[in-house]
Amino acid sequence: MVCDKISKHHPEEIFHHNKLKDYIINWDNINIPAGNRDIDRLETNNTGLISINVYEPDDLLNEEKIIKTRSTKVRDAKYHIDLLKIYDEKDRSHYVLVKRLSRLLNCQSNSNTKEQHYCKYCCHPFTHERGLDAHYENGCEVFEGQKIKLPNKGDYIEFNRHNTKLKCPYVIYGDFECLTVITRDGIKGTYQEHKPCVYMLNVVNSIDNISTPYLYRGDDCMDKFVEQLAKI
Ligand SMILES: [Zn+2]
Repeated sequence: MVCDKISKHHPEEIFHHNKLKDYIINWDNINIPAGNRDIDRLETNNTGLISINVYEPDDLLNEEKIIKTRSTKVRDAKYHIDLLKIYDEKDRSHYVLVKRLSRLLNCQSNSNTKEQHYCKYCCHPFTHERGLDAHYENGCEVFEGQKIKLPNKGDYIEFNRHNTKLKCPYVIYGDFECLTVITRDGIKGTYQEHKPCVYMLNVVNSIDNISTPYLYRGDDCMDKFVEQLAKI
């Protein structure tokens, strides 16, 4: 029920599982059927050999959402297993092998038309497998924390935009408020349109410390906004 992480191509294929023989695994104190603690024991008994993640449907919040309920703490194990924990009508739990994690997690992705490659430690999705490989090589944050990159000897940075240090004497702040209007001929599933109904302009004079507000309400507030800006 495990796949060899060294087998880069189609690790979900069942023939990879033949490589892990029962006699390699230390089954001491493992109950069958297995519970949560047995998974912990199996990892501990076989240090560096097996890592196991467990996923579950998030029944409380959203049945279509899959959440990770057990994250392995074993880094770079030779064999990695993903399990889905499901419950029957009598609320008994069962573990199901996840052959391809992307198929399971893609259902809750916004861009579920494209296959994503998920980090087995932090579940961050990558569009390309090479992105995931680079993520593993650089060190996943779950294990490595933040990566520190020091500059090369002799490198330096310089601040030269001194003009940005000068305070602008006049600043205009503008803001719009909109009403949402139901639209029937929506494009790409759009069902509401934001219609501007009011604007507020605030001219701040930092020389004399004065601010002048301009407020306008009406359907033509966009036109009036531009007219007012031109006047100011
Ligand atoms: Zn990661």
